[in-house]
Amino acid sequence: MTGPTPKPLAGKADVSSLRDLLDERELLTTASDIAGFTTDLLHSAVELPLAVARPASTQSVARIVSWCRDNEIAIVPQGGLTGLCAGAVPSGLPGAVILSLGRMNAVKNIDLTGNTITVEAGAVLANVKALAEGKGRYLPLSHGAEGSSQIGGNLSTDSGGNNALRYGTARDQVLGLEVVLPDGNIWNGLRRLRKNTAGYDLKHLFLGAEGTLGIITAAVLELQMAPANRQTALFSVPDAGSAISMLHQLRAIAGETVAAFELISAAAMERALEMPGSRYPMKQNHNWFVLAELESSGSGIDLQSLLEEGLGLGFEAGWVAEAVISKSGAQRLGLWKLREAVAEGCIEDISCLKSDTAVPVDCISAYLEAAGLAVEKILPGARPLPFGHLGDGNIHYNVRRPPQMDHEMFRTSWPELTAAIEAEAIKLGGTISAEHGLGRLKSGRYGTVADAVELDLMYRLKNCLDPGGLMNPGIYSESG
Ligand SMILES: Cc1cc2nc3c(=O)[nH]c(=O)nc-3n(C[C@H](O)[C@H](O)[C@H](O)COP(=O)(O)OP(=O)(O)OC[C@H]3O[C@@H](n4cnc5c(N)ncnc54)[C@H](O)[C@@H]3O)c2cc1C
Repeated sequence: MTGPTPKPLAGKADVSSLRDLLDERELLTTASDIAGFTTDLLHSAVELPLAVARPASTQSVARIVSWCRDNEIAIVPQGGLTGLCAGAVPSGLPGAVILSLGRMNAVKNIDLTGNTITVEAGAVLANVKALAEGKGRYLPLSHGAEGSSQIGGNLSTDSGGNNALRYGTARDQVLGLEVVLPDGNIWNGLRRLRKNTAGYDLKHLFLGAEGTLGIITAAVLELQMAPANRQTALFSVPDAGSAISMLHQLRAIAGETVAAFELISAAAMERALEMPGSRYPMKQNHNWFVLAELESSGSGIDLQSLLEEGLGLGFEAGWVAEAVISKSGAQRLGLWKLREAVAEGCIEDISCLKSDTAVPVDCISAYLEAAGLAVEKILPGARPLPFGHLGDGNIHYNVRRPPQMDHEMFRTSWPELTAAIEAEAIKLGGTISAEHGLGRLKSGRYGTVADAVELDLMYRLKNCLDPGGLMNPGIYSESG
């Protein structure tokens, strides 16, 4: 098995020849100008880039990529910088060009007959969602960083989020793509078609590829009709097994209207409540919580009755002890605020270990138990705060430091804890990355757990499309 071509580290080209190809606002080189592009949420150690390119058009992206190819300069694509795997900053990669898509944020077309929207890659997810909503349409993709993350970043990480249970991940919401390939050619696959079996479905090569095979410059996204009705509940469950029983119950009653089903442990709830603006809506303390949401674009479906019926059966079966159903839009947002505050609280705690494991749904209870035992054995007193998208089997088995331990000391335990948590997921047929991608953080670990044939196929694809190894080196590589 041969890994990708070793990454270039030189980056010694004279950047003035690149400047000649671009508008002056498209290239930043001074320390103060590039500072905002070299820090991610993980505080990754970042090498100084040669320059930050901020192209305003697909043609400019193609010029930058061609120049980098000719001069053997590595390219690090960058979206909203909310990724959690150090993929968008040049860690261990001196002299790269950071290619930030933020200026390419136009909506090129909205088609209310076919229900599609065509946007440039740098458009912020929340803005695209708001625009669709203003037209009575709905872009389902939704997560805690939607106010900053960009469509290009979401598609490149195949983002999952809060309602993948019903609508699938980012990949499932894409009809067409435009990509600048590593050789500088532009592939225009911006088709507004739901069906197209003519040839390989090439867009899937670039979705979830984290910029290793090309730069996504625009996309056609599929829209849904705007929900006419939503019902949201927070309820307590004694354990994860009861949460899974409730998921089956609700789906049996409310079918595909079950759009979100989020699991929150007591420790995760405690962290959420430490964040500003969070309020606990229940009377009792509980070990586990579920935030569930039903939504329908048809106004004729009585979601409230369906939700109440599901919860009633849950009480009878002993799966539910306490429940709160939101009575207004503001109350709904308050419940979702709790869920988002868990993720924000984990990011704010600089030494909180973050994981993105997934296991088959029927293995979630076994996984939670095994991961808990493994963590306690390695570092007694460490505080797991598992939460996540239960309906997708995606558990963020995050861990905070023991209360008396300082951040730096706890960080030294990260590799052992991470390996143990991920090993338990793999043993159960799971994955180390359900929705965040691999980035430079996980590529090396992926190499140790991936199937050899799968890895070889990935390397062959990478070498075929990017023989110079210039596109986001360090991701999908043996040295990552
Ligand atoms: C509070 C919080 C909550 C979150 N919740 C979720 C969640 O529920 N579900 C989830 O999936 N994620 C979640 N995330 C993670 C993150 O928001 C996603 O990974 C998001 O998709 C990243 O988008 P971005 O624009 O910020 O990309 P960046 O972080 O800038 O980049 C991510 C990767 O994509 C590449 N890339 C970016 N743009 C392009 C492009 N145009 N072409 C090619 N490659 C590109 C980068 O090189 C990098 O490898 C959360 C993050 C935070 C901070």
